[in-house]
Amino acid sequence: MKNVSRLFLLLLFLQSVTPSAYGINSIHTGTGLKTIVIDPGHGGSDKGGEGKNGLLEKDVALEVSLSLRQMMLNNLKINVVMTRDGDYDLSLKKRTDMANMSKGDLLISIHTGSSYSRDIKGIRIYYLDYEEVRKEFMVGPSNHEAEADNNGGGEDDVEIILRDMAISDFSNEGGHVAELIQKNLTEIIPDQNVILKSMPILIFRDVNMPSVMIEIGNLTNQDDMMRLKDRKYRDKVAMAILNAVKEYSRVNSGMVTR
Ligand SMILES: [Zn+2]
Repeated sequence: MKNVSRLFLLLLFLQSVTPSAYGINSIHTGTGLKTIVIDPGHGGSDKGGEGKNGLLEKDVALEVSLSLRQMMLNNLKINVVMTRDGDYDLSLKKRTDMANMSKGDLLISIHTGSSYSRDIKGIRIYYLDYEEVRKEFMVGPSNHEAEADNNGGGEDDVEIILRDMAISDFSNEGGHVAELIQKNLTEIIPDQNVILKSMPILIFRDVNMPSVMIEIGNLTNQDDMMRLKDRKYRDKVAMAILNAVKEYSRVNSGMVTR
C-alpha cells in the first residue's frame, strides 16, 4: 500500500513537470524545430560499406549530408549542426554528445546499407524501437516497485519515469518523421523500395531528441550502387528528406519556411 501511495504522489508530481524541465527537448510544446542535427555515418579509418566499384559508404553519407544541410539552410529558418563535415574518425559517444550539446530537436543519421544477398536493394528508414530500448534500459514496473522500497522512492523514480516518457515521445516522433520521409522518398523516387523499421539502434539510445537513420541504398546491390554513384539520385534523396522535415515542421508549427 505504501508503494501505491508513493506512486500516486509521484504521478501528481509528474503532472506539474515537463521533460524539458529536465533538459530533455520536447517538440510537442509548439516551440517547433529550431535545430536539426545531421549525422553522416562512419568517416576516417571507418569506411563503412564498400561497393564493388570502390564507392565508400563514408563518402556517400557525407556528400548527401552536406547537400541536405545546404538545402535546409536555403529553405528553412533553422540551425543545422553536422556531427562531422569532413573525412575523419568520430566515435559514437562524440556524435551523441554533439547532438545533445547542440540541443537538437531532430537527429538524422545518413548511411548506406549492405546485405548478404546481392539481390536485396532499396532504402531503409529506422527509428527508435521504444519497447526494445525500454526492456534494456528501463526498470520494469514490477522491479520499479521493489526498487522504490529499497531507496524510499524519490528522485530516482522521477528520473526513470521522465526518461521513460521521453523515450516514448522520441520513438513516436521519430516514427512520424520516418513515415514522412518514406512518403516523400516514394514520391520523388517511385521506382525504389522504401522500407520502414523500428530498431534499438545505438546512436538513438542516448540522444535527447527524436531520431531517424536512413540507409539510402544498398552498396552490395548493383542497381543501388550505380544509383548511389549518381549525384542526381543523391540529391533526390536529400530533397525528399528536406520535404519530409518541412511537412513535419508544419505539423509541429513554430518554424517558418523561407
Ligand atoms: Zn553505416
